[in-house]
Amino acid sequence: MKLSWKTLLLLSLPAIVISFFLWQGFLVPTNEQLSGNLARSRMTYGRFLEYLDMNWIKKVDMYDNGHTAIVEAVGPELGNRVQKIRVELPANAPELITRLKKAHVDLDAHPAKNTSAIWNLAGNLLFPLLLVGGLAFLFRKSNSATGGPGQAMSFSKSKALFQMEAKTGVVFNDVAGVDEAKEEFEEVVTFLKKPERFTAVGARIPKGVLLIGPPGTGKTLLAKAIAGEANVPFFSISGSEFVEMFVGVGASRVRDLFKKAKENAPCIVFIDEIDAVGRQRGAGIGGGNDEREQTLNQLLTEMDGFEGNTGVIVIAATNRADILDLALLRPGRFDRQVIVEVPDFKGRLAILRVHARNKKIDTNVSMPIIARRTPGFSGADLANLLNEAAILTARKRKNTIELSEIDASIDRIVAGMEGTPLTDSKSKRLIAYHEVGHGIVGTLLKDHDAVQKVTLIPRGQARGLTWFTPEEDQSLISRSQIISRIMGALGGRAAEEVIFGDTEVTTGASNDLQQVTSMARQMVTRFGMSKIGPLSLENEETNPFLGRSIGSLSEYSDEIAIKIDKQIQLIVKECYVKTVKIIQENRVVIDRLVDLLIEKETIDGQEFRQIINEYTPVPEKG
Ligand code: ADP
Ligand code: MG
Ligand code: ZN
Repeated sequence: MKLSWKTLLLLSLPAIVISFFLWQGFLVPTNEQLSGNLARSRMTYGRFLEYLDMNWIKKVDMYDNGHTAIVEAVGPELGNRVQKIRVELPANAPELITRLKKAHVDLDAHPAKNTSAIWNLAGNLLFPLLLVGGLAFLFRKSNSATGGPGQAMSFSKSKALFQMEAKTGVVFNDVAGVDEAKEEFEEVVTFLKKPERFTAVGARIPKGVLLIGPPGTGKTLLAKAIAGEANVPFFSISGSEFVEMFVGVGASRVRDLFKKAKENAPCIVFIDEIDAVGRQRGAGIGGGNDEREQTLNQLLTEMDGFEGNTGVIVIAATNRADILDLALLRPGRFDRQVIVEVPDFKGRLAILRVHARNKKIDTNVSMPIIARRTPGFSGADLANLLNEAAILTARKRKNTIELSEIDASIDRIVAGMEGTPLTDSKSKRLIAYHEVGHGIVGTLLKDHDAVQKVTLIPRGQARGLTWFTPEEDQSLISRSQIISRIMGALGGRAAEEVIFGDTEVTTGASNDLQQVTSMARQMVTRFGMSKIGPLSLENEETNPFLGRSIGSLSEYSDEIAIKIDKQIQLIVKECYVKTVKIIQENRVVIDRLVDLLIEKETIDGQEFRQIINEYTPVPEKG
């Protein structure tokens, strides 16, 4: 059955109404009940008790089972006029009634009129409805990108606010570039489809699978694909949603979630961002978070509670497996761990092909070229890239997406929004020399990546940019390659100095110098590429409390520290001398390239190399 999202929204309206109230934690009096009785100001319960002691309270109208009251108060603090004030009452305060009676307060209770209340509240609900509607819409949009059919999406009628999808519509074919993870999951699909095969030989089906990987690498997508392939319902909730709830609600949500899941078995329960609840207990700065611990404990209890073969498989995703509570990783819980990594060249190519399926891309566009230009892009980045390119194409009123739109989108994603170029001025000239400096050093060094283009069109923070195309994914980088990169990065400053003199050099090189220093430091302390020898002196360490890197932990004496600094200086100095030499020896072609760059604002790599080749032979790369 295929339902339109509007119908679904209407169907789920009561559920949304209910969950919204629970979110708010109380039922507000209806408009009807409040009409003519509109209380604009509020006060705390404590203040209300004070007023009561002062005999300032004249009348109390209770609503919604005594959770809310509109009180009429009069007193000097209130300008001696009768004022209507709203008070939220604690759930359990039986002694309050006695006190009110003693104080001879006019007390009235109004029962909640639930049927009409829901419709009266429609006005109040416009905002959350729009919000949910917007989400549902986005949700559908993002799924249609993967070519899935429309799917049922509804909110549970219980107080849990997890999502349940009868059909995710995502299949393994929509996920690319993560072959190992997919293989692992094909087995899980078999567990769900043919559990007998495993139970017959006494195998215990795993209860939980933990997906570990950086954001945007397709963890959510993979979990959905399992449900889609096995054709089972998909329950999902995010760890951060557990935590932001009121006390006690997180744990009860977990209970609800698992209850619903067992009723719908076989099915997938997906817990996104599990690190938000599953962080090591008692490790938080400033005391533990009781709420989180309760939620985590409940989760562990639930996972232990159901038998391995109920057909419920819990999939959780995190990008921080290192901070997870060890109890979660014990066998019988998330005993399978699947690592999802940022895709390599082949992976990017496959992902691009998946997302190109529903886009009109010009036949001339070469996907390998795009994949080559996008090292470090995650699946989500690549999906976003093609979408940006499509938007750009539509804006230009063109029919098919061409390489130029894709290129512009890559530039934008990597380096930020395009700015307006400088008008001809001294600083434009200086920037041109700086960029051509990077470009020529990069071109003339055999082990440096090839120049893709040099441009004076500013983007983001940068006022000019030199782009390089990495030849292929480089997991192993040689010393010569690092030295070449250091020299390439120094090329900008070297050109400034050679052409304008050392009094005219600018702050424009600060970012380059940062990179240079960091590369040189790693050569010395991590890669054993200096005269100190093959020692690992620093490790990238992360702090489990802050959940992020706090720099490096040093394990050496002060004496070594001095040696390290000396070696770093030595490397950078040698590189700089060689770089300056390249600039000096190629002054003629540099001047010509700068004039051309100022005129055209962008020179592509091929033209750049051709011009240099007229003066000096350009070495083959790689
Ligand atoms: P994560 O959960 O790891 O942060 P998502 O699964 O939410 O990442 O990915 C976001 C979107 O990026 C997906 O909906 C999909 O469009 C795209 N995407 C990410 N990884 C892949 C992949 N491996 N193959 C195809 N598309 C992907
Ligand atoms: Mg996700
Ligand atoms: Zn620079």
